[in-house]
Amino acid sequence: MTRATLRPDLAILTMAGYLDARPRVGYFYTGKTGSQLLSDKINKIQVNDHQSIPVVVHESVSVYDAICTMFLEDVGTLFVVDNFSIIVGVLSRKDLLRASIGKQELTSIPVNIIMTRMPNVTFCFKDDLIIDVAQKLIEKQIDALPVVKKTDKGYEVIGRITKTNITKVLVALARDEII
Ligand code: ADP
Repeated sequence: MTRATLRPDLAILTMAGYLDARPRVGYFYTGKTGSQLLSDKINKIQVNDHQSIPVVVHESVSVYDAICTMFLEDVGTLFVVDNFSIIVGVLSRKDLLRASIGKQELTSIPVNIIMTRMPNVTFCFKDDLIIDVAQKLIEKQIDALPVVKKTDKGYEVIGRITKTNITKVLVALARDEII
């Protein structure tokens, strides 16, 4: 068998992490098992490539309008922002349900009365690892995190990462669609 015949196979094994190659040494076995290679891969996946567009409401909108936005935008979590797109709170489905079972007029209660507010909002940055976000979702027992960017006014909302995004990553990994 010639070197040229083997080269594509060696390239695949190198890309997969089973082999490594060094000039003048040639190919050698990295010693990594399949599961070590999989966890190496998982530990490189960043929020950046898997986030969704955030759905935000202004802190002054009513609970009624927030409920309408949640239905129209088909999301389970809304991020509440001020005039500068700085995050001030989070609204989940249950927050809105809880407010709805009271006797108050939903069109006259602003969301900032019922939201989970800063500094209690759990967030992440675009270059954080997906696995760390998954850990936060489990620990805090929540469905979504805002992806934020630090500015001199506070944390600006730039994305959204949910349990659905993480489930999609799992499927993509199983189908070998993540390099
Ligand atoms: P639901 O209550 O609809 O099941 P969650 O489990 O996401 O949805 O929310 C549970 C509680 O945690 C709610 O009171 C909500 O305001 C709060 N919450 C949701 N996301 C966050 C977050 N990223 N940071 C802090 N609190 C959050």
